[in-house]
Amino acid sequence: MNLFNLKDASQQVSFVEAVKIGLGREQGVFFPQTLAPLSQVSALLDLPFAERSAKILSHLIGDELSKDVLSDMVARAFNFPAPLVNVAKNTYCLELFHGPTLAFKDFGGRFMAECVSLFSEGERVTILTATSGDTGAAVAHAFYKKPNVDVVILYPEGKISLAQQKLFTTLGENIHCYAVDGSFDDCQTLVKEAFLDEELKQKLGLNSANSINISRLLAQVCYYFEAVAQLPEDKRNSVHVSVPSGNFGNVCAAMIAAVIGLPIHRLSATTNQNDTVPRYLVDNTWSPNATKESLSNAMDVSKPNNWPRVEQMLRETMFSKHDFFSRSVSEQETKQAMHTLHEMGYLAEPHTAIAYKGMVEDELANASSIFLATAHPAKFKDSVDDVLGTDIELPKALSDALAKPCLAEPLKADYAELKAAVYARLAVQ
Ligand SMILES: *Cc1c(COP(=O)(O)O)cnc(C)c1O
Repeated sequence: MNLFNLKDASQQVSFVEAVKIGLGREQGVFFPQTLAPLSQVSALLDLPFAERSAKILSHLIGDELSKDVLSDMVARAFNFPAPLVNVAKNTYCLELFHGPTLAFKDFGGRFMAECVSLFSEGERVTILTATSGDTGAAVAHAFYKKPNVDVVILYPEGKISLAQQKLFTTLGENIHCYAVDGSFDDCQTLVKEAFLDEELKQKLGLNSANSINISRLLAQVCYYFEAVAQLPEDKRNSVHVSVPSGNFGNVCAAMIAAVIGLPIHRLSATTNQNDTVPRYLVDNTWSPNATKESLSNAMDVSKPNNWPRVEQMLRETMFSKHDFFSRSVSEQETKQAMHTLHEMGYLAEPHTAIAYKGMVEDELANASSIFLATAHPAKFKDSVDDVLGTDIELPKALSDALAKPCLAEPLKADYAELKAAVYARLAVQ
């Protein structure tokens, strides 16, 4: 797989290089040179999830990884299901929260960990990532106790749920966490600054686990095929997928799936009140506002890193602009959608409810509509119970994590402080 930097097309890299360096020059993200269509999509849809996913990834990545190696990596990474639940007539929910940290980030995080372990060949690697809530846990669990790998996680102090936070800040060992006095965008800015620091990059063997890392995106392409594979055959002709969007990585993966041949006829990328993209699509000006805190905190992103990739596919008409929708959902509408789903017998946390709302608003007549459940409701127990008056039970993974002490250190949103803290923690000379 050959990729180029969307900010500087002269920078061209292989898949292995793109995984290792994460972000390109001028903070540009990498994008595949070509996205060739798959042959025989319907035969692929008949295969079991892991087997099909290995074939899709092999098609995308090409001969940099042998088919056998890739099959083993996928079998280890995707060792939990992604069930499609029929919620109402022609309405389906793709549940992506059955992995170890109860959010869809497990798919990308675990496949990325497989890639990084394979490519580093025993050299020291430091994974630096900013999390809006769920990436931190997925990446921390995926790399926990892996030899020669340190993980540094920055999260916005007090802006993510306690369950989200405790799933990674309680691990210790090679997982180093910093509670940043700022927003997710501030954390993301610190990560980008670190990538411009050649000295730090070299000394730490720096890699990023953000959704800017191409390995995470490609992994996510696979579960869209799994969703369509679970639809009855006569329901696959017209498919609408609705993705709750923050950094726009997940919807980017959905679009890549469509570009390589998955029948997705309409795509909705629904945001919370952090609406930079919906406003951009209306007036063509990119003007991020200050990040607002929402019930759907993993989507509290006002400078989505993956938007350039989505825009590239729209600009090059790989996916039609007319079939792409992006709207913003208010806090009030989020709560209403949680109630509506609850009355339909489906318990949803706020991110999932936003996907449902976007699906209803952009509905395509007679289509099969799929909205994504990106997190387990218990991961947002406080807001779910508060909005719905429930008292939902915690899965064991969560109650165990909540019982342990938080090992994160406080950090100002200041690059010099981050560098000093990380050098001290990792004993860098
Ligand atoms: C990360 C996350 C999102 C947003 O996904 P992006 O790829 O950043 O758009 C939505 N829901 C949940 C629960 C998340 O953790």
